Amino acid sequence: MPFFINVILPLPLEKHFTYSVSKDEAQFLKPGMRVAVPFGKSKIYTGIVSEVHQRPPEVYEAKPIEQILDKTPLVTASQLKMWSWVASYYMCSEGEVLRAALPGPFLLESETIVQLAKDVEIDDDALSDDEFLLVEALQTKSSLKINEIIQLLDRKTVLPIINSLVEKKLAVVNQEIYEQYKPKVERFVKLHDRYLEDASMHELLDELNRAPKQREVIFTLFGISAKSAKGKSSVKVSELAKKSGASASVIKSLIDKGVLEELKIGISRFSFDLENHGKNLQLNEYQEKALQEIESSFESQDVCLLHGITSSGKTEIYVKLIEKAISQGKQVLYLLPEIALTAQLIARLQNYFGEQVLIFHSRYSVNERVEVYQSVLQNKETARIVIGVRSSIFLPFHDLGLVIVDEEHESTFKQYDPAPRYHARDTAVVLGKLQDAKVLLGSATPSLESYYNADHSKYGLVNLARRYGDVLLPEIEIVDIKEKHRKKRMTGHFSDRLLEEIKETLKNKEQVILFQNRRGFSPILECNTCGHSPQCPNCDVSLTYHSHSNQLRCHYCGYHMAMQQKCMACDSPELSTKGLGTEQVETELKALFPDHKIGRMDLDTTRGKQGYEKIISAFEEEKIDILVGTQMVTKGLDFRNVRLVGIMNADTLLNFPDFRAHERSFQLMLQVAGRAGRTQKRGLVLIQTFNPHHQIVQQVSTNSYHEMYKEQLEERRNYKYPPFYRLIKISLKGRDYSRVNEGADWLALSLKNTFREHVLGPEFPPVARIRNEYYKNILVKIPQGQSLSKTKKLIGRILQSFKAIGAYRGVKTVINVDPY
Ligand code: ADP
Ligand code: ZN
Ligand code: ZN
Repeated sequence: MPFFINVILPLPLEKHFTYSVSKDEAQFLKPGMRVAVPFGKSKIYTGIVSEVHQRPPEVYEAKPIEQILDKTPLVTASQLKMWSWVASYYMCSEGEVLRAALPGPFLLESETIVQLAKDVEIDDDALSDDEFLLVEALQTKSSLKINEIIQLLDRKTVLPIINSLVEKKLAVVNQEIYEQYKPKVERFVKLHDRYLEDASMHELLDELNRAPKQREVIFTLFGISAKSAKGKSSVKVSELAKKSGASASVIKSLIDKGVLEELKIGISRFSFDLENHGKNLQLNEYQEKALQEIESSFESQDVCLLHGITSSGKTEIYVKLIEKAISQGKQVLYLLPEIALTAQLIARLQNYFGEQVLIFHSRYSVNERVEVYQSVLQNKETARIVIGVRSSIFLPFHDLGLVIVDEEHESTFKQYDPAPRYHARDTAVVLGKLQDAKVLLGSATPSLESYYNADHSKYGLVNLARRYGDVLLPEIEIVDIKEKHRKKRMTGHFSDRLLEEIKETLKNKEQVILFQNRRGFSPILECNTCGHSPQCPNCDVSLTYHSHSNQLRCHYCGYHMAMQQKCMACDSPELSTKGLGTEQVETELKALFPDHKIGRMDLDTTRGKQGYEKIISAFEEEKIDILVGTQMVTKGLDFRNVRLVGIMNADTLLNFPDFRAHERSFQLMLQVAGRAGRTQKRGLVLIQTFNPHHQIVQQVSTNSYHEMYKEQLEERRNYKYPPFYRLIKISLKGRDYSRVNEGADWLALSLKNTFREHVLGPEFPPVARIRNEYYKNILVKIPQGQSLSKTKKLIGRILQSFKAIGAYRGVKTVINVDPY
């Protein structure tokens, strides 16, 4: 009997592919191992074995594999199960999930580009003959495709050679262009506890009489730490060396002797009181109660929602739960949205858990991601706790005890492009099931879905309604700018109220955050004579004015041109700008407060290497007085000295054309408000709006989450949206306008035949052309009680028929389950 394996290829294929293997290979291979296999005319891919069996494929002759790439599985059985869930739930192929789940270097294929790593010394003697040949080839031709290497070395089995060079860090594949990011790590030392008593201290000093330099270091340490509250705190090594004049080796010998204890802390340089955040953290009574409620909820339920207002000390509760899970030998995943994964939070957690924390960040290089993957797979000591963004749910956990999804309401947990278009929070709940782990969702402003689930006892619910240290919630004041305009009390985009409070805050040497949910200058240029605004030639949007570069730019495709002096349509020089962006707020501020330092945080200013961290630390160190920013400023940052938060214009948020706009505006405004007054002094939030009576603005100002929840839920019920209806969005796109249009009509009609009134569209989205491709959307609503899997099957079938129609060739379809 011949032997076969099924292989998941990293391609959008409906099925696994079957290859033939020898008996020996069949005995060696296990699901989750990688194999190199031929596919198509002449291509080679790395695929994952999903099954070893003896059933020949029916419709094609199984080809033999090229070779086996692993000795033990790289992918666990639990991961394979999850891939299959993600593929079927989000209607994509397992191959697409595989691509999202494994770091690129694991998936060499014929098109992969190989280069030598930069700045490494290559020791020829440490290379095998094949490796040597390949290195030599790469030295003469700076980069080679794997196809070319196969020809060059005149052999088919080159992947192991490349894998081995990559592992030795001598070669890199598909070198990504983005820059590496590393949280700043600082070395600290403190006196070993055993010298805390006077007697032993004296003994030590006597002993050090013979080592005057070391003695000097100890005295300097006293000097520095005496200034801090408790006199025995840790001190930066760099500071100690500088003040004592001692060399690194003197300090090192004190560490080696055990006199000093070394701590490596990913610290961001701010007023972070290490002593209060040491290992023996004490929860206050409210946190303690919440912790107990969570634990008892976990006894009967797998998922629990922690609704804790901003600054209530949720992180500390997480810490306690994490501690417990790892003390039971379990792994922990702490999921965060991209922008909330800051040096600040990393520092806090590393401080508690030291080297057991591993960080998985999209700004990490692929090689670092490979390392994280391997450490988790091997369940290393250094990989008990993974703090990571969305894609970390795909790591090869073994024995996960706890998943925390912090800021669970964040929309960036959803991946939009490419497939798999998964939601990391929802997938985390499934991961929890597969791994038998508990899942804690945390937020100050939970998503309507999660709160609904908790409200209906599908999840546990725990409330934490007090800020830590009884810091008061900020006072929230609504400023009616329609009225202010009428009374001529506006200076540019600033009301007299806001200016007054900014002045007051600056006078007291406190800081201000101003929030405007749009980057750029005055986004849109408009002709006063004919009304024309310059458009992007590739997309159906107006170009946005950026004063810094004096350009008009497209935020969808990056197209840009110089700022125009005259209208391009009628030559009139009378151009004006419409709308308000962060850059204009910044410019107006600079004119109003010329003696103060103003910073701006948005996509444009945080692009460069560590741009984001730089702005945050400048603000922490109070080198910036006023920080203007987009929603980047709303996330989990803990600044001590911010008294005033100003929301420049609430209306741009509220008027967003999306059924979630109100929920999101509430969340965003409350989150940004939470940045004010995180210490004893009460903070102030000013919301400028043309609609002071808007229910959402009112609910923000009174901090009424429940009211918002009830009201929004009612609207969702009336208009048939989640959580009452599930949504599947089908987008058509293509270069030929009429094909897209006609195809969309055909598809919508077929869907309506089956799903009747639950099909909306086809409709052009607000931006109907991007990079010269036209878009049209159809929305299918699925009522509670209608089988999701049957619905998907039917949609799948209709799409199959659609794809078979010649007239619509070139029209692509994209399916998005739970699209918003
Ligand atoms: P949240 O995540 O709920 O917004 P944080 O966890 O950031 O709140 O806590 C707010 C502040 O209170 C932080 O500066 C944190 O260090 C401090 N804090 C919270 N709980 C404790 C505690 N038990 N002991 C000492 N400090 C705490
Ligand atoms: Zn004009
Ligand atoms: Zn464009």
